[in-house]
Amino acid sequence: MTAVQEGLFTEGTDPHLIGARCRSCGRQHFPATDTCPYCGADAVDPCELPSVGRLWAWTAVTSPPPGYHGTVPYGFGVVELGDCIRVVTRLTESDPASLHAGQAMRLVLDDVGDGADEPLLSWAFAPETP
Ligand SMILES: [Zn+2]
Repeated sequence: MTAVQEGLFTEGTDPHLIGARCRSCGRQHFPATDTCPYCGADAVDPCELPSVGRLWAWTAVTSPPPGYHGTVPYGFGVVELGDCIRVVTRLTESDPASLHAGQAMRLVLDDVGDGADEPLLSWAFAPETP
């Protein structure tokens, strides 16, 4: 499989998003960049973000964005990881009525390719099954 972009997530049985932590202010950001988006410091260290979190906001996307060949509708929202970072993400659940604030969510990797070429791996968050 090919990742949709290198450096966004680790692969394997326990995947993680790759963020960065600022050595100056201590805040985390995602995706990782060379400078801190909060204080401008250029001393940041890559870090794996928690793979589980809580749903903070959500909606459904019913029209595919340019270049997207996956299925529609799909869920889209914000998941809070730990107590310090919120990431904008695709959601595996496309029915907004099936989601609720604070719902436990887990990182998953799935194929967003068009099915014609080799799988194109990206990340999403799925409702955690109890
Ligand atoms: Zn900073």
